Amino acid sequence: MAQFRFKALEEVLNRKPVDVVREDNLVSDYYGILVFDEAKMKKYLSREAYKAVVDATKKGTIVDRKMADQVAQGMKAWAIENGATHYTHWFHPLTDGTAEKHDAFIIHGAEGGVIESFSGNLLSQQEPDASSFPSGGIRQTFEARGYTAWDPTSPAFISETTLTIPTIFISYTGEALDYKTPLLRALSAVDKAATEICQYFDKNVVSVKANLGWEQEYFLIDEALYMARPDLVLTGRTLMGHSSSKDQQLDDHYFSSIPTRVNRFMQDVENEAYKLGIPVKTRHNEVAPNQFELAPIYEEANLANDHNQLVMDIMQKIARRHKFRILFHEKPFAGINGSGKHNNWSLETDTGVNLYKPGKNPKSNLQFLTFVINTLKAVYDNQDILRASIYNAGNQHRLGANEAPPSIISVFLGTEVSKMLDLMEEAVVDRKMTPDEKTALKLNIGRIPEIILDSTDRNRTSPFAFTGNRFEFRAIGSSANCASAMIVLNAVVANQLKAFKREVDLLVESGTKKDEAIFQVLKKVIVETKPIRFNGNNYAREWIEEAAKRGLSNVNSVPEALSAYLRPESKKLFNDLGIFNETELAGRVEVEYEKFVMKVQIEARVLGDLAINHIVPTAVRYQSLLLENVKNLKDVFSENEFENLAKGRKELIIEISEHVSAIKEKRKEMIEARKKANVIEDIVEKAEVYEKTVKPYLDDIRNHIDKLELIVDNELWPLPKYRELLFVR
Ligand code: ADP
Ligand code: MG
Repeated sequence: MAQFRFKALEEVLNRKPVDVVREDNLVSDYYGILVFDEAKMKKYLSREAYKAVVDATKKGTIVDRKMADQVAQGMKAWAIENGATHYTHWFHPLTDGTAEKHDAFIIHGAEGGVIESFSGNLLSQQEPDASSFPSGGIRQTFEARGYTAWDPTSPAFISETTLTIPTIFISYTGEALDYKTPLLRALSAVDKAATEICQYFDKNVVSVKANLGWEQEYFLIDEALYMARPDLVLTGRTLMGHSSSKDQQLDDHYFSSIPTRVNRFMQDVENEAYKLGIPVKTRHNEVAPNQFELAPIYEEANLANDHNQLVMDIMQKIARRHKFRILFHEKPFAGINGSGKHNNWSLETDTGVNLYKPGKNPKSNLQFLTFVINTLKAVYDNQDILRASIYNAGNQHRLGANEAPPSIISVFLGTEVSKMLDLMEEAVVDRKMTPDEKTALKLNIGRIPEIILDSTDRNRTSPFAFTGNRFEFRAIGSSANCASAMIVLNAVVANQLKAFKREVDLLVESGTKKDEAIFQVLKKVIVETKPIRFNGNNYAREWIEEAAKRGLSNVNSVPEALSAYLRPESKKLFNDLGIFNETELAGRVEVEYEKFVMKVQIEARVLGDLAINHIVPTAVRYQSLLLENVKNLKDVFSENEFENLAKGRKELIIEISEHVSAIKEKRKEMIEARKKANVIEDIVEKAEVYEKTVKPYLDDIRNHIDKLELIVDNELWPLPKYRELLFVR
């Protein structure tokens, strides 16, 4: 008998950690060497071209063609010196990844042969044949033109031997077909709206940027074991597998020492990230076995998002070098924690003030409270589109599974900020405040900084938590493009800040003093938004009831969650802010519905196939062994003895039969359900039918398979089990 049930297991145990070579001793020596950053621009560009790009980044001006030509020359020179032979426009289509098509720098030379060339035109704009990217019907394939256009706010970089230029991706008619275009629009909307509010407090503020610090969770699985699991290979998650007797009960994985092989992988990823100017900082073991986290220092949101996508790509490539496969799926294993991507978000003025950091004096604290309270209102009024922005087939398994924030959106403020809000609420503003009242309030507001900085007030169960100097949107799935959530969050905050300003200005016009007007409106908003504030345990069953009483929405289906995008008020919000016109929004939502249907469809097919050609034959083989055994018993023993001895075996034989029959029956029904769903034309209805009639079979069939896994001889079981996938490395 083989020592290991699988050749794969033997392979895993023989693996040696891969050596990692640091480029240099100090990270600061090689940080950003592959990025065409400001230092390199200074060296390779004329003064005017350099200024054109910096202005575009800092002030949002446009780089004209003449300047673009100069920039292209500089970029090309730098890229070729650093080993690049190709260039590509890199963009974020509405799939789960990024897209690139490489072109060599060469063109025909005037005197025969080829020369290296790269022009401003090629840098600025390209027209990839983009007919196969999802557009939700915006772009019919017969007019397949899509344009990519250079985003000078995110620096170009070299990936292997390709000069990579971050771009937006739009249709021939100008509609956004990607994540970056609307993200840039949303960031610009929040910039404008927030700047106007800042002007109440400080006339020097000219612009406001959003910062994003993402935390990326993931699983690592040994390549040999991964390959032996067709469900992981094809769907990114296990569609079957009985839980391991021990998994995360002892909390012995979280923050424990990182295994050497994994550590080498992390170092390798960090090396690459540093060369690309991505400030990755934190690494640790997560709660579930084989689950880990990586987080950088926060950056401007558009750049941070490019970096997140890039890091995910790097991680996938480097995992292979270390004979791992990385899982970004939100719920690769049933019964243990899934993976999220926390988005830490804040707004910062060009004067360097973090608007979510409590100030040192009453004035800046009023500004701080203005932003916090308006954010509350934005989240309260827009729970449903915020949820829609993070809800998908993968994340659905996670939300509400008592490990991730539930589907109910609420905001955690912590005791100190909550106290401030309560104090403001109680303050008398209907009549003029007495000087004493004013002083009391200001003093208290003024006391926030010390208290908050000392406070270790954390709530890990809240989907949207204030964490001292930022909000942390925690409900995002690990495989997501952060832009999806960042578009909506920045949009709703921009929308609310505009509404707030209108109200304050009205009061000021009618003679109220500015601070007083701000105070009055904030007070009103505090009262209105009370239901969204929750500092308790979001995992508790009681919260579900409590939230329902408060009128907060709770949605557990992907199609229903997505439908929030299609409400008239959502269309108006996005349209008014110039983020999505109706066509763009409809197209995008259609893509999401389509993705959901496809994912469930693929999972159903994979599960059906595996059930029939892996599981059923194995169960039947084991059953035959049992039958053989029973027959032999009958030959050897007397009638009476036999009945006694064979009882347990006979029961097993029947149990196996029952599961096998159920699997076959349910698989048939699942195929029928799919057939019915597939002929539905309307994508929304189709998604609903998939949710209601196809998806339930996934759990149902799985249950029978998992029961068989416990019964069938371990030697025969054809798939690596949870205890092997999660603990062997
Ligand atoms: P935790 O796990 O305690 O939430 P981490 O250190 O893992 O903390 O991640 C926190 C993330 O939040 C990091 O990316 C960090 O750079 C980021 N962050 C810190 N301050 C801000 C801020 N003002 N705005 C946005 N992100 C921030
Ligand atoms: Mg965090």
